[in-house]
Amino acid sequence: MKKIIVSAAAAFMMVTACFPGSLTAVKAEETPAPEAPAEEVPAAEPVPMYRLYNPNSGEHFYTANIGERDALIQLYWRYEDFGWYAPKDAGDPVYRLYNSFAGEHHYTLNEAEKNALVEAGWTDEGIGWYSDPAKTVPLYREYNPNAFSCNHNYTTNIKEHEQLIANGWLDEGFAWYALKEGEKDPNPPEMPEPPKPTPPPVDETTDKAHIIYLTFDDGPSKNTRTLLDVLKKYPQVKVSFFVVNQATNYVPLIAEEFQDGHTVAVHSYTHDYKKIYKSTDAYWSDFNKMNDIVEKYTGQRSILFRFPGGSSNTVSRSYSKGIMTTLTKQSKDKGLVYFDWNVSSGDAGETTSTDKVYSNVISGIKSNTKNGRASVVLQHDSKSYSVKAVERIIQWGLQNGYRFLPLSKNSPTAHHHINN
Ligand SMILES: [Zn+2]
Repeated sequence: MKKIIVSAAAAFMMVTACFPGSLTAVKAEETPAPEAPAEEVPAAEPVPMYRLYNPNSGEHFYTANIGERDALIQLYWRYEDFGWYAPKDAGDPVYRLYNSFAGEHHYTLNEAEKNALVEAGWTDEGIGWYSDPAKTVPLYREYNPNAFSCNHNYTTNIKEHEQLIANGWLDEGFAWYALKEGEKDPNPPEMPEPPKPTPPPVDETTDKAHIIYLTFDDGPSKNTRTLLDVLKKYPQVKVSFFVVNQATNYVPLIAEEFQDGHTVAVHSYTHDYKKIYKSTDAYWSDFNKMNDIVEKYTGQRSILFRFPGGSSNTVSRSYSKGIMTTLTKQSKDKGLVYFDWNVSSGDAGETTSTDKVYSNVISGIKSNTKNGRASVVLQHDSKSYSVKAVERIIQWGLQNGYRFLPLSKNSPTAHHHINN
C-alpha cells in the first residue's frame, strides 16, 4: 500500500517526460482473447472500481482499494465514481504496471505485454483487478498517438469510445471485461480543495524601475522543459507564459508552469493571423479555445493575454480593417487585460544569437530603469537560442538589484500604439 501511495504522489508531481513508444510494446490487437468458459461460471461478487483523474498529468487511475482511492484524493486527484464493476478475487487477472519515470500506470490482461513493459523498465504492481471470464461488459481500450503521456483510455461507454476514435485516438480493441458497467457513487467521499500556488509578495508600487517581468510567448515547446529547470534554480524569480497550442506534446507543461508559481496567460490556440484576425468572433473563439486548455491544466481561466503580433500589429489590416481597435475595446468590456512589451529581445526574427538576445534585453531594461519604468520583456520559449539567454539575464538582474515578478492584472501593461 505504502509503495503505491508513493508512486501516486510521484505521478501527481510529474507532469512530463514519457516514452510514448514503450506503451505500445505489445498492441492490444495481439492480446489473446480470454478463453470462453466451457461451462457455467459461478456468479462472482461485483466490486466497484473507483475511477480517479489527475488534472495535472491527465492520467486516469483505477483501483478497487478504498484506502488507495482516499489517499489519492488527499493528493488532489479528482474522484470520478465507479468506472465499472469487477469480479471480486476471481476471473482473469488484469496486471497493473507503473512507469516511475513518466509517472503513469498501465493495465493489461496480456501477460506478454506485461513482461515486455517490465523488460522496458516498468514496475510490476501485481494484479490490479480481475476480468470477467464470461465477458459480460467489454472495456474498450484506446490509444492517443498525440499525447505526451498517459496515452491510454479504458471505458465501458461506447459513446465515449466512439468520440475518442473520432478525435484521432486509435482503437486498440477490448482491454478486459466487467461484470457490469459503472455508475455514480451513491456515497462519494469528500474532496479537499487543491492548494493554490502562493504568489510571491508583490509590491509593484515602489521602485518600479527595478522590476522585470520576463514574458515568454508561443510555448510550451521543446525548450520549455529547459527553461522551467533553469527557473527552478531561482525560486524568487517568477515569469509569465503566454501560451499557444502548437506543440501539443508539450502543452501539459502548462500545469507545471502554473504549479511553479509563474503566470499562465492566453496567447492563441492557432496563432494563425489569417484565421484569428478575420473577424472579432474568430478572434474570441480562438482565444476561448486556448483558455479552455489553460483551465484544463491550471484549474482556472486567465484574464490576462497578449495579442499575436502585439496590439500594434499591422498584419491584421490585410484580414480585417480596424480589428485591433475593436478587439482592444472589447477586451476591456470583457474584463480582460492585454499586455504588450517595452523590451524586445529581438528573438522573433532580428537575431538568432543568444549573446544578442542577452544584450538586447539588458540594454532595454537599463533604458527603462533610467526612465523610471518597469520592464516587460518579450521573449519566445519556442526559440532555443532565446531560452539559453535566460539564466544570464536572471543573474545580471539579481546582481543589479532587480526583482523578477509574474504579471498580474495590476502590472504595467506596456501597451503599444494601435495601428489598425
Ligand atoms: Zn506569438
